[in-house]
Amino acid sequence: MVDLVVRSRRAVTPDGVRAAAVSVRSGKIVAVDEYAAEVPAVEDVDLGELALLPGLVDTHVHVNEPGRTEWEGFASATRAAAAGGVTAIVDMPLNSLPPTVSVEALEIKRKAAAGQIHVDVGFWGGAIPGNVADLPALHGAGVYGFKAFLADSGVPEFPPLNATQLAEALAAVEAQFVVHAEDPEHLHETASSAAYSDFLASRPPEAEHAAVATAIAAAREAGARVHILHLSAASALPLIAAARAEGVRVTAETCPHYLTLDAAEIPEGATEFKCCPPIRDSANRDRLWAALADGLITCVVSDHSPCTPDLKRQDTGDFAEAWGGIASVQLGLPVVWTAARERGHSLADVVTWMARRPADLAGLTAKGRLEVGADADLVAFDPDATFRVDPAELHHRNPVTPYAGKTLTGHVRTTWLRGQIVTGAEPRGRFLTREGS
Ligand SMILES: [Zn+2]
Repeated sequence: MVDLVVRSRRAVTPDGVRAAAVSVRSGKIVAVDEYAAEVPAVEDVDLGELALLPGLVDTHVHVNEPGRTEWEGFASATRAAAAGGVTAIVDMPLNSLPPTVSVEALEIKRKAAAGQIHVDVGFWGGAIPGNVADLPALHGAGVYGFKAFLADSGVPEFPPLNATQLAEALAAVEAQFVVHAEDPEHLHETASSAAYSDFLASRPPEAEHAAVATAIAAAREAGARVHILHLSAASALPLIAAARAEGVRVTAETCPHYLTLDAAEIPEGATEFKCCPPIRDSANRDRLWAALADGLITCVVSDHSPCTPDLKRQDTGDFAEAWGGIASVQLGLPVVWTAARERGHSLADVVTWMARRPADLAGLTAKGRLEVGADADLVAFDPDATFRVDPAELHHRNPVTPYAGKTLTGHVRTTWLRGQIVTGAEPRGRFLTREGS
């Protein structure tokens, strides 16, 4: 007798999309059988033609609690995640106060999150100037690795590393590093402007090239694992391809907005489109899709990075002053699926990019896959349903979004976390801790 069996004619398993029955006991997947298999179960759910996906894993979410909870907090971020089919997030070490740069700060963050998370939550640590001695203990306390910036992060308490400091951090601890790769030498100050083109010109592709080269050189020197966060400039891809070909352990992710939005279509003053690095042109976007298709870009994650509407300068529309960040943990799946489908990709591709590979990046071996032994994090997804994005339906604390009014394909119907439906009422999420910590 199992607790739950979920049947679907379109289950996205590691062997592809097929009809299957997924059995769950004590929160784990215990069998993946044929669709019509006889399985004695307390509850038997037949999704029919609705797709059954593993819960997505979003390794790039800025929750901001404690300290900037008015931007986003654990309750609202994890409710939004669950509504978007995301059952595990890994929280970025900034823009909370304190940032997660020591064991003490990690404990403060866990305490702030306790009792209010609706999906499972892990943490990245931060590498900043002066905390290199704290990195081994912080890794031992369970963070999945370390984030570093190579340019101004936007908040004073999380300064960037220079190339020497990055090398020191990589040498200090054997861990996954994740790097915000923009080089300050190539970033330009801009005057107040409501024109997106002015903002775009201030952060040219060369800023990404230079920083990606710095990160690759450091990874090569230390033999370390370095992951390039939110790659926007496709022209940096050949650097990554060449480094991988020579055995450097470098990977890269991109985000739903870089894959689906186009600089030429961003309206005057529409600061909800501002993020760093910036959204570039449609030819660049096509090259990002090509890199996803050939596996050079491994993951698609949200970089959910909200703030309050006043900091987003929704009143003045000034791109120079507005906070850079797009909040899309709830919308990433339909945003990406809508475009992926038009470009001939399958649901299995999307699950690889948004569940399996992000789980692998963080070493979350029980997440992101419909297979025996994995956590029973399940999503019933209607891949054919369309809907219009209404910000009022977003669970983000500040529902500012560049997708407002857009029609998307693909609707999350039900999300199960370790075998139980996430309702948004009772928080049942757990903390995720790196294996071996
Ligand atoms: Zn980020």
